[in-house]
Amino acid sequence: LVKLEAVNKHFGALHVLKDIDLSVARGEVVVVIGPSGGGKSTLCRVINRLETIDSGDITFDGQTLPAEGKALAKLRSEVGMVFQSFNLFSHKTILENVTLGPIKVRGIARQQAEQRGLELLERVGIASQAAKYPAQLSGGQQQRVAIARALAMDPKMILFDEPTSALDPEMVQEVLDVMVGLASDGMTMLVVTHEMGFARRAAHRVVFMADGQIVEESAPEEFFTQPKSDRARDFLSKIL
Ligand code: ATP
Ligand code: MG
Repeated sequence: LVKLEAVNKHFGALHVLKDIDLSVARGEVVVVIGPSGGGKSTLCRVINRLETIDSGDITFDGQTLPAEGKALAKLRSEVGMVFQSFNLFSHKTILENVTLGPIKVRGIARQQAEQRGLELLERVGIASQAAKYPAQLSGGQQQRVAIARALAMDPKMILFDEPTSALDPEMVQEVLDVMVGLASDGMTMLVVTHEMGFARRAAHRVVFMADGQIVEESAPEEFFTQPKSDRARDFLSKIL
Protein backbone atom coordinates (compact mmCIF):
# COMPACT_ATOMS: atom_id res chain seq x y z
CA LEU A 1 0.00 0.00 0.00
CA VAL A 2 2.83 2.37 0.83
CA LYS A 3 6.37 2.02 -0.43
CA LEU A 4 9.44 4.10 0.34
CA GLU A 5 12.51 3.65 -1.82
CA ALA A 6 15.89 5.20 -1.03
CA VAL A 7 14.25 8.06 0.83
CA ASN A 8 16.52 10.76 2.20
CA LYS A 9 15.59 13.73 4.33
CA HIS A 10 17.76 16.41 5.88
CA PHE A 11 16.96 19.15 8.36
CA GLY A 12 19.77 21.55 7.50
CA ALA A 13 22.97 19.64 8.08
CA LEU A 14 21.19 16.86 9.95
CA HIS A 15 20.60 13.74 7.87
CA VAL A 16 17.39 12.43 9.45
CA LEU A 17 16.31 9.72 7.01
CA LYS A 18 19.11 7.82 5.32
CA ASP A 19 18.22 5.73 2.29
CA ILE A 20 15.04 4.38 3.82
CA ASP A 21 13.45 1.42 2.04
CA LEU A 22 10.21 0.32 3.60
CA SER A 23 6.92 -1.01 2.40
CA VAL A 24 3.72 -1.70 4.22
CA ALA A 25 1.27 -4.07 2.57
CA ARG A 26 -2.50 -3.75 2.74
CA GLY A 27 -3.71 -5.09 6.06
CA GLU A 28 -0.22 -5.18 7.51
CA VAL A 29 0.68 -3.82 10.95
CA VAL A 30 4.25 -2.56 11.24
CA VAL A 31 5.69 -1.36 14.52
CA VAL A 32 8.59 1.10 14.39
CA ILE A 33 10.78 1.21 17.43
CA GLY A 34 14.07 2.89 18.26
CA PRO A 35 15.93 5.53 20.23
CA SER A 36 14.85 9.15 20.48
CA GLY A 37 15.91 11.30 17.54
CA GLY A 38 16.23 8.28 15.26
CA GLY A 39 13.77 9.66 12.71
CA LYS A 40 10.60 7.73 13.58
CA SER A 41 8.28 10.75 13.65
CA THR A 42 9.86 12.12 10.51
CA LEU A 43 9.21 8.79 8.82
CA CYS A 44 5.50 9.10 9.67
CA ARG A 45 5.41 12.71 8.57
CA VAL A 46 6.91 12.10 5.14
CA ILE A 47 4.32 9.40 4.45
CA ASN A 48 1.40 11.84 4.58
CA ARG A 49 3.61 14.59 3.27
CA LEU A 50 3.67 16.77 6.34
CA GLU A 51 7.37 16.89 5.40
CA THR A 52 8.92 16.82 1.95
CA ILE A 53 11.80 14.50 1.07
CA ASP A 54 15.12 15.39 -0.53
CA SER A 55 15.49 12.28 -2.67
CA GLY A 56 13.96 8.88 -3.23
CA ASP A 57 10.43 7.80 -3.98
CA ILE A 58 7.32 7.31 -1.95
CA THR A 59 4.26 5.74 -3.49
CA PHE A 60 0.88 5.30 -1.85
CA ASP A 61 -1.64 2.96 -3.43
CA GLY A 62 0.51 2.82 -6.55
CA GLN A 63 0.87 6.59 -7.01
CA THR A 64 3.72 8.95 -6.25
CA LEU A 65 2.83 11.22 -3.35
CA PRO A 66 1.16 14.37 -4.62
CA ALA A 67 2.83 17.67 -3.82
CA GLU A 68 -0.20 19.91 -3.41
CA GLY A 69 -3.79 20.69 -4.19
CA LYS A 70 -6.72 18.32 -4.31
CA ALA A 71 -4.57 15.25 -4.71
CA LEU A 72 -2.71 16.10 -1.51
CA ALA A 73 -5.97 16.65 0.37
CA LYS A 74 -7.14 13.26 -0.89
CA LEU A 75 -3.93 11.60 0.29
CA ARG A 76 -4.29 13.20 3.73
CA SER A 77 -7.85 11.91 3.97
CA GLU A 78 -6.69 8.40 3.05
CA VAL A 79 -3.82 8.31 5.52
CA GLY A 80 -5.03 8.91 9.05
CA MET A 81 -2.66 10.13 11.71
CA VAL A 82 -2.84 9.78 15.47
CA PHE A 83 -0.30 11.75 17.48
CA GLN A 84 1.10 11.53 20.97
CA SER A 85 -0.68 14.76 21.91
CA PHE A 86 -4.23 13.90 20.71
CA ASN A 87 -4.56 17.23 18.83
CA LEU A 88 -8.34 17.43 19.27
CA PHE A 89 -10.18 20.67 18.53
CA SER A 90 -10.71 21.95 22.06
CA HIS A 91 -13.69 24.19 21.28
CA LYS A 92 -15.60 21.43 19.52
CA THR A 93 -17.53 18.63 21.16
CA ILE A 94 -16.35 15.04 20.90
CA LEU A 95 -18.94 14.31 18.22
CA GLU A 96 -18.01 17.47 16.31
CA ASN A 97 -14.36 16.45 16.43
CA VAL A 98 -15.29 13.20 14.72
CA THR A 99 -17.73 14.65 12.15
CA LEU A 100 -15.85 17.78 11.09
CA GLY A 101 -13.55 16.02 8.58
CA PRO A 102 -16.28 13.99 6.88
CA ILE A 103 -18.54 17.07 6.60
CA LYS A 104 -15.88 19.58 5.50
CA VAL A 105 -13.53 17.42 3.46
CA ARG A 106 -15.76 14.62 2.24
CA GLY A 107 -18.93 16.66 1.83
CA ILE A 108 -21.01 14.15 3.77
CA ALA A 109 -24.38 15.34 5.10
CA ARG A 110 -24.36 16.30 8.78
CA GLN A 111 -26.96 13.80 9.85
CA GLN A 112 -25.20 10.94 8.14
CA ALA A 113 -21.81 12.04 9.51
CA GLU A 114 -23.27 12.19 13.02
CA GLN A 115 -24.78 8.75 12.78
CA ARG A 116 -21.49 7.29 11.60
CA GLY A 117 -19.60 9.38 14.19
CA LEU A 118 -21.68 7.89 16.98
CA GLU A 119 -21.05 4.39 15.66
CA LEU A 120 -17.31 5.06 15.69
CA LEU A 121 -17.44 6.52 19.19
CA GLU A 122 -19.30 3.36 20.18
CA ARG A 123 -16.56 1.28 18.62
CA VAL A 124 -13.89 3.02 20.70
CA GLY A 125 -16.12 2.83 23.78
CA ILE A 126 -17.02 6.47 24.40
CA ALA A 127 -20.36 7.13 22.70
CA SER A 128 -21.73 8.35 26.05
CA GLN A 129 -19.24 11.26 26.00
CA ALA A 130 -20.28 12.56 22.57
CA ALA A 131 -21.62 15.92 23.79
CA LYS A 132 -18.65 16.72 26.04
CA TYR A 133 -15.57 18.78 25.22
CA PRO A 134 -12.07 17.29 25.02
CA ALA A 135 -10.91 18.86 28.30
CA GLN A 136 -13.68 16.99 30.13
CA LEU A 137 -12.24 13.62 29.09
CA SER A 138 -9.28 11.65 30.38
CA GLY A 139 -6.18 11.33 28.21
CA GLY A 140 -7.08 7.77 27.29
CA GLN A 141 -10.58 8.83 26.26
CA GLN A 142 -9.22 11.75 24.23
CA GLN A 143 -6.85 9.46 22.40
CA ARG A 144 -9.73 7.11 21.60
CA VAL A 145 -11.61 10.09 20.17
CA ALA A 146 -8.55 10.87 18.04
CA ILE A 147 -8.67 7.30 16.72
CA ALA A 148 -12.41 7.58 15.99
CA ARG A 149 -11.73 10.86 14.22
CA ALA A 150 -9.11 9.21 12.03
CA LEU A 151 -11.49 6.33 11.26
CA ALA A 152 -14.27 8.74 10.31
CA MET A 153 -12.39 9.60 7.14
CA ASP A 154 -12.38 5.93 6.07
CA PRO A 155 -8.61 5.92 5.74
CA LYS A 156 -6.73 3.23 3.85
CA MET A 157 -4.01 3.39 6.48
CA ILE A 158 -3.42 4.95 9.89
CA LEU A 159 -0.08 6.22 11.16
CA PHE A 160 0.30 6.24 14.93
CA ASP A 161 3.16 8.26 16.42
CA GLU A 162 3.65 7.17 20.04
CA PRO A 163 -0.10 7.21 20.71
CA THR A 164 0.23 6.12 24.33
CA SER A 165 3.39 7.81 25.50
CA ALA A 166 1.63 10.92 26.87
CA LEU A 167 -0.89 8.83 28.83
CA ASP A 168 -1.01 7.92 32.49
CA PRO A 169 -0.06 4.24 32.78
CA GLU A 170 -3.57 3.08 33.70
CA MET A 171 -4.92 4.51 30.45
CA VAL A 172 -2.43 2.95 28.09
CA GLN A 173 -4.21 -0.38 27.83
CA GLU A 174 -7.62 0.99 26.82
CA VAL A 175 -6.02 2.74 23.86
CA LEU A 176 -3.91 -0.27 22.91
CA ASP A 177 -7.00 -2.48 23.06
CA VAL A 178 -8.72 -0.24 20.49
CA MET A 179 -5.61 -0.42 18.29
CA VAL A 180 -5.44 -4.21 18.57
CA GLY A 181 -9.10 -4.30 17.52
CA LEU A 182 -8.33 -2.20 14.44
CA ALA A 183 -5.41 -4.44 13.59
CA SER A 184 -7.55 -7.55 13.76
CA ASP A 185 -10.17 -5.88 11.58
CA GLY A 186 -7.45 -5.63 8.93
CA MET A 187 -6.55 -1.92 9.10
CA THR A 188 -3.16 -1.12 7.61
CA MET A 189 -1.15 0.48 10.40
CA LEU A 190 2.32 1.94 10.91
CA VAL A 191 2.78 2.34 14.64
CA VAL A 192 5.67 4.07 16.37
CA THR A 193 5.55 2.70 19.88
CA HIS A 194 7.67 1.18 22.59
CA GLU A 195 4.75 -0.91 23.82
CA MET A 196 6.07 -4.38 23.33
CA GLY A 197 2.81 -5.94 24.42
CA PHE A 198 1.14 -4.28 21.45
CA ALA A 199 3.92 -5.32 19.09
CA ARG A 200 3.63 -8.92 20.27
CA ARG A 201 -0.17 -9.00 20.04
CA ALA A 202 -0.73 -7.11 16.82
CA ALA A 203 2.39 -6.46 14.74
CA HIS A 204 3.33 -8.49 11.72
CA ARG A 205 6.75 -6.89 11.60
CA VAL A 206 8.98 -4.79 13.81
CA VAL A 207 11.27 -2.20 12.25
CA PHE A 208 14.13 -0.96 14.41
CA MET A 209 15.25 2.51 13.45
CA ALA A 210 18.29 4.39 14.76
CA ASP A 211 20.25 7.39 13.48
CA GLY A 212 17.98 7.75 10.46
CA GLN A 213 18.47 4.18 9.29
CA ILE A 214 16.50 0.99 9.39
CA VAL A 215 18.89 -1.18 11.33
CA GLU A 216 16.82 -4.33 11.32
CA GLU A 217 13.40 -5.73 10.55
CA SER A 218 12.02 -8.92 12.04
CA ALA A 219 8.96 -10.71 13.27
CA PRO A 220 8.08 -9.33 16.75
CA GLU A 221 8.93 -12.44 18.72
CA GLU A 222 12.28 -12.74 17.01
CA PHE A 223 13.08 -9.07 17.46
CA PHE A 224 12.42 -9.10 21.18
CA THR A 225 14.08 -12.42 21.95
CA GLN A 226 16.99 -12.46 19.50
CA PRO A 227 17.73 -9.03 18.05
CA LYS A 228 20.31 -9.28 15.28
CA SER A 229 22.18 -6.02 15.80
CA ASP A 230 24.15 -4.76 18.77
CA ARG A 231 22.29 -1.49 18.44
CA ALA A 232 18.91 -3.17 18.92
CA ARG A 233 20.20 -5.37 21.75
CA ASP A 234 21.53 -2.31 23.54
CA PHE A 235 18.24 -0.44 23.02
CA LEU A 236 16.14 -3.35 24.28
CA SER A 237 18.29 -3.75 27.37
CA LYS A 238 17.41 -0.15 28.25
CA ILE A 239 13.67 -0.35 27.75
CA LEU A 240 12.94 -3.87 29.02
P1 ATP B 1 11.49 10.59 19.48
O1 ATP B 1 11.58 9.15 19.90
O2 ATP B 1 12.16 11.50 20.45
O3 ATP B 1 10.11 11.02 19.12
P2 ATP B 1 12.09 10.35 16.64
O4 ATP B 1 12.73 9.05 16.33
O5 ATP B 1 10.65 10.50 16.38
O6 ATP B 1 12.41 10.72 18.16
P3 ATP B 1 12.36 12.62 14.88
O7 ATP B 1 11.37 13.44 15.60
O8 ATP B 1 11.98 12.06 13.57
O9 ATP B 1 12.90 11.44 15.81
O10 ATP B 1 13.64 13.51 14.74
C1 ATP B 1 14.83 13.09 14.10
C2 ATP B 1 15.85 14.21 14.19
O11 ATP B 1 15.40 15.30 13.40
C3 ATP B 1 16.04 14.76 15.58
O12 ATP B 1 17.40 15.04 15.75
C4 ATP B 1 15.21 16.02 15.58
O13 ATP B 1 15.74 16.96 16.48
C5 ATP B 1 15.32 16.48 14.16
N1 ATP B 1 14.12 17.21 13.71
C6 ATP B 1 12.86 16.74 13.68
N2 ATP B 1 12.00 17.64 13.17
C7 ATP B 1 12.75 18.72 12.85
C8 ATP B 1 12.45 19.99 12.26
N3 ATP B 1 11.22 20.32 11.88
N4 ATP B 1 13.48 20.86 12.10
C9 ATP B 1 14.74 20.53 12.44
N5 ATP B 1 15.08 19.35 13.00
C10 ATP B 1 14.12 18.45 13.20
MG1 MG C 1 9.02 10.99 17.55
